[in-house]
Amino acid sequence: NDTVFTFGGDAPHTNARQKDKTVTGGKGANLAEMASIGLPVPPGFTIATEECLKYLEHGGEFAPALRKEIEQALTHVERTVGKGFGDAADPLLVSVRSGAAISMPGMMDTVLNLGLNDATVEGLAQASGDERFAWDSYRRFIQMYSDVVLGIDHGLFEEALEITKEDNGFYADTELSADDWKTLVAEYKQIVSDEHDAPFPQDPTEQLWGAIRAVFDSWDSERAKVYRRLNNIPHDMGTAVNVQAMVFGNMGDTSATGVAFTRDPSTGEKAYYGEWLVNAQGEDVVAGIRTPQYLTRAARENAGAKPLSMEEAMPEAYAELAHLFDLLERHYTDMQDIEFTVQQGKLWLLQTRNGKRTAKAALKLAVDMVGEGLIDEKTAILRVDPMALDQLLHPTLDPDAPRDVLTTGLPASPGAASGKIVLDADTAELWSNRGEKVILVRVETSPEDIHGMHAATGILTARGGMTSHAAVVARGMGRPCVSGASQVSIAREGRTLTIGDRELKEGDTITIDGANGQVMAGEVATIEPELDGDFGVLMEWADKHRRMRVRTNAETENDCRMARQFGAEGIGLCRTEHMFFDASRISLVRQMILADDEQGRRAALDQLLPEQRSDFVKIFEVMVGLPCTIRLLDPPLHEFLPHGDAEFEELANATGFSVDQLRRRAGELHEFNPMLGHRGCRLGITYPEIYEVQARAIFEAACQVAKASGEAPVPEVMIPLVATRRELELIKEVVDRAAQSVFEEAGCSVEYLVGTMIELPRAALMAGEIAEVGEFFSFGTNDLTQTTLGVSRDDAARFLTTYVDKGIFARDPFVSLDVDGVGQLVSLAAERGRATRPDIKLGICGEHGGDPASIAFCEKTGLDYVSASPYRVPIARLAAAQASL
Ligand code: PEP
Ligand code: MG
Repeated sequence: NDTVFTFGGDAPHTNARQKDKTVTGGKGANLAEMASIGLPVPPGFTIATEECLKYLEHGGEFAPALRKEIEQALTHVERTVGKGFGDAADPLLVSVRSGAAISMPGMMDTVLNLGLNDATVEGLAQASGDERFAWDSYRRFIQMYSDVVLGIDHGLFEEALEITKEDNGFYADTELSADDWKTLVAEYKQIVSDEHDAPFPQDPTEQLWGAIRAVFDSWDSERAKVYRRLNNIPHDMGTAVNVQAMVFGNMGDTSATGVAFTRDPSTGEKAYYGEWLVNAQGEDVVAGIRTPQYLTRAARENAGAKPLSMEEAMPEAYAELAHLFDLLERHYTDMQDIEFTVQQGKLWLLQTRNGKRTAKAALKLAVDMVGEGLIDEKTAILRVDPMALDQLLHPTLDPDAPRDVLTTGLPASPGAASGKIVLDADTAELWSNRGEKVILVRVETSPEDIHGMHAATGILTARGGMTSHAAVVARGMGRPCVSGASQVSIAREGRTLTIGDRELKEGDTITIDGANGQVMAGEVATIEPELDGDFGVLMEWADKHRRMRVRTNAETENDCRMARQFGAEGIGLCRTEHMFFDASRISLVRQMILADDEQGRRAALDQLLPEQRSDFVKIFEVMVGLPCTIRLLDPPLHEFLPHGDAEFEELANATGFSVDQLRRRAGELHEFNPMLGHRGCRLGITYPEIYEVQARAIFEAACQVAKASGEAPVPEVMIPLVATRRELELIKEVVDRAAQSVFEEAGCSVEYLVGTMIELPRAALMAGEIAEVGEFFSFGTNDLTQTTLGVSRDDAARFLTTYVDKGIFARDPFVSLDVDGVGQLVSLAAERGRATRPDIKLGICGEHGGDPASIAFCEKTGLDYVSASPYRVPIARLAAAQASL
């Protein structure tokens, strides 16, 4: 027999299959484990997940062999407890619970007191000597069973109970007598007959099969399917069923039930944490009908609460429970979340599992447990979810503060921010200069908004996805951002906006939560990040155990400094076009772009050169001794063309051209598909002087810093959007020439590399040839995803969520690398590049460089480093360590 497993009593020794979560589910495996080490677990049996799959495959038919197996297992439970299932004199009652390998809300949870009927309820009353308890249990059973197995609205039962209470002037359930419950049971049965067209099933065996059927069916419920989709859980795992002898926490004042954590799940503090209720059954604790009490005396005193803690009210049961907490923690070497029941003074454990925890608690638990010798460093590293670190690096909203949620957009850049609504970048700057906190609200952002984004404490856009301009820039700057909040509509004239059906105006305060995309009215209290000891200790361990290096995507001195504080080991991508977003410079860039000839472009470039040089000097100073990948200009042209009248006039004043001339030129440059247009190295091929001047600025800055500090930076000059070897060759000549002439002029030389981004499918395919020229590759997986999938990174948000909901993509491919598709191009390019140039340096600088699943792929592919925005650097360090363990 290998699909029904017994536990408790003299059940045969548990085998490996029974302790395998994929076979018996999380709950079943842990019950077997606890029983096998002699802990007080009520006897029962687990039906394996594969029976669920067989049942569903056969259109809701149980496998014929299952009946016999379950009969035998039930006999084991009857023998152990000394009661008979359906025995009218002294009945065995059971609980039936689902339990998949991964715990999953959305599935049928629990039916308690199964086995009760009109006859056995009398037996239970006799045997327990408590008539009220027996009838209370029966009415609970009818309600639960009708709800989860028969699908009858539980509100109908609650209504009947409320009416009984009202008619009798009762306040609490505890005031109902045995006779009151008896009357109510009759009403409940009537509800079932009316709603179900059949009387409430009286045969315990029929009840049991009904419950098993409900558990199996719930695996395929819509709710469960949606949950699996959202959490990337395979649909072919099935759920196990746990049938277990009932123990009763509602047998008077020496009985109780509760839920506990072995440590505080929100702080990680080493203190038992939990709730309990005297004379109650499991669902009373969770349902919120009665207020649960504190478990420990210390917690009760701390809260200034009156009702006695379990430690005080039931010292013996509590002492045993505390002993079991320690034992279970040592056994599982992790914080446990435990359900228990005390029946007339005797303690029983109903469930244990690794407890869910906050990021802060996860860090503290991992570090403390290494200190206690419970786990080793590697285990500690694997215990912390890298993405959870995000919660620690940004201010977060106080979880206890009330929230008036207006709408929910995409969680584009983490952190929480409150401030006054401003509708344009200039106002943002103006108000922020006078000391106000502002949230910049735009339909979408563009490079002209940069100063406003800088000035704002947070950014909210109505359009744009997770890699939209607003999202990328906000993440880079560490500004919280909610993007694609499509319910936001802005009326510029009146300086007002509507969010859903709420009217707001410029100056009103809102709060955004970049961690979940919520937009809230008013100010919601925040908590400052606290990078205390545990964070530092865990990151140190991560650094010790990782192979890949971690660099940052950054282009300002501030971001570089912050990234270094977060542990960046160089720059993986400095987007030079971002350095021109600044209001004073954008006009020069526009002059350069709109110029008709080389002479016009050179005039603008001459003015840009010193500014570029001084930017690079600052960056090299912060990154002294570390590699810095500087990417030459890659501007989708539309981002830099002037738009409104004011911008054209400003430009006309600066250049001496007329507004009409400029408009005509802008019209000529207009592109229908700018992402595939005149950008990247195509600009350097057609206007080599642009790259020449940029290269000059890089080498002049490098020489200046080398002379001043004695330590030379190592610039890695990176060419974007290369598709062919010849493009790279032509541009490398320009860069090398600039280097030579700077070195001669400066009387100094620095080491440098010239390499390319691999961000077009052709470049990946031709990597062998391209590596003949390129000294390093950096995978630009944003564009590589866009071009491989043929999905626009700026427009995808509109339909990608549907794609994820329908399971077409497990996750947004712009957030987590499409390993199956785009990943192949990365591996292939790495392989071909190395074949040509064995020591070629390989990195990734697309947004995926900060995503743990993508980082695991990079480790497998053998990349040398990943590069991520500053706030993602710690995440990448931890994920890289996990990937190499
Ligand atoms: C990329 O395409 O992945 C990349 C890093 O470049 P950008 O996002 O600037 O296009
Ligand atoms: Mg790119």
